[in-house]
Amino acid sequence: MSSLLNQTHDPKLTSWLACANTGTSDFPIQNLPFAIFRRAGSTESFRGGVAIGDQIVDLSALSKMHLLDGDVADALKLCCQPTLNEFMAKPSATWSALRAALSAALAQGSPIEAEVRACLVPQSDAEYDLPCRIGDYTDFYTSIHHATSVGSLFRPDNPLLPNYKWVPIGYHGRSSSIDVSGQSFPRPKGQTKAPDADKPSLGPCKRLDYEMEVGIYIGGGNALGDSIAIDESDEHIFGMCLFNDWSARDIQAWEYQPLGPFLAKNFASTVSPWVVTNEALAPFRTSWTRDVRDPQPLEYLTSDRNSQLGAYDIELEVAIETPAMREAGQSAQKLTQSSFRHSYWTTAQMIAHHTVNGCNFVAGDFIGSGTQSGPNSEEAGSLLELSNGGKQQVALGNGETRTFLEDGDAVVMSGFCEKDGAVRIGFGQCYSLVLPAK
Ligand code: CA
Repeated sequence: MSSLLNQTHDPKLTSWLACANTGTSDFPIQNLPFAIFRRAGSTESFRGGVAIGDQIVDLSALSKMHLLDGDVADALKLCCQPTLNEFMAKPSATWSALRAALSAALAQGSPIEAEVRACLVPQSDAEYDLPCRIGDYTDFYTSIHHATSVGSLFRPDNPLLPNYKWVPIGYHGRSSSIDVSGQSFPRPKGQTKAPDADKPSLGPCKRLDYEMEVGIYIGGGNALGDSIAIDESDEHIFGMCLFNDWSARDIQAWEYQPLGPFLAKNFASTVSPWVVTNEALAPFRTSWTRDVRDPQPLEYLTSDRNSQLGAYDIELEVAIETPAMREAGQSAQKLTQSSFRHSYWTTAQMIAHHTVNGCNFVAGDFIGSGTQSGPNSEEAGSLLELSNGGKQQVALGNGETRTFLEDGDAVVMSGFCEKDGAVRIGFGQCYSLVLPAK
């Protein structure tokens, strides 16, 4: 792992911006995540920004100051655009060079502090857009705990299908309905059929759910026909975000066989605005193991590097904010917490598998990790699991209960990485609100 770390990860590094150095900020100088933003309510162009403390470094303003030279100046120029696709398409060395330059510019003692300070925009004044044009989106299913408990609800006799332990299961999702935190959307309508009904009917979804996932942005892609070997995957992972894969469970139960999710999933999905780079996550990578009682993966899904560094210890949390909480001025109530490190398949395995047949990734493509449920029942990443298929009410702490989401409910996801010897980094929030059906 030491080879993945450099001076930008140094836990002793601090910024001249004091609010970044508190130890509790999501955005210390060791993080430096990217987003696309502008001042809220303005007609400014959207452009790239990097978070530091409670501020955003406006990369377009910084670029115009011509403080940085060479490749870094070119990289900065790409971040002035309203999407990060062209920057993401560059080699990882370019991402790294810009990160190192921004780290130096924001560090205590930087000779350009005054100039960079003039480029800051408060996060409280900003609105965000998607960080890039998401071309294709694939959703995996990498938590065996989620797959087993959901499988047992849909197929009590046969919860985990025989391919699960051999194939990183996924399906091609829809990118047009992926939006950024702050998204609200009408409750989907669809075709459902109760088990005792003799025919299906059309109506608003009655079992609306969230899915707590990690989103992975692909940087440089691969040519059609080529594969990305498992140990090459880091060159293709630009960064990660929080991802809410909204799911209509009653529509899903009726439509999902034989081809998998369709209208149960494509009405809305929400990403957090900040992309935490793969480089920023380096200190929180950890070993990945496969239970010796389980089949070991085929060779193209196996490597020493993957075993040593394949897992990411990202803590994920979900909270719910009901209309009653909002009216009472109460904060959102936590529903669950788990970690991406429990994933049965790693990000490197997902990428190696996705391309083993020659399928090409393009910069800005997006991967969902699948719902990240941990080994314990309270670590479940969806209401479907927490309510045991809608059979048990989930207590919210203010006297309210839920089995599935009601109109006006907002789901708030957050995530962070914490470990001895490293500075805590966070992902910010992924907030989205359910409106009544149209
Ligand atoms: Ca999903």
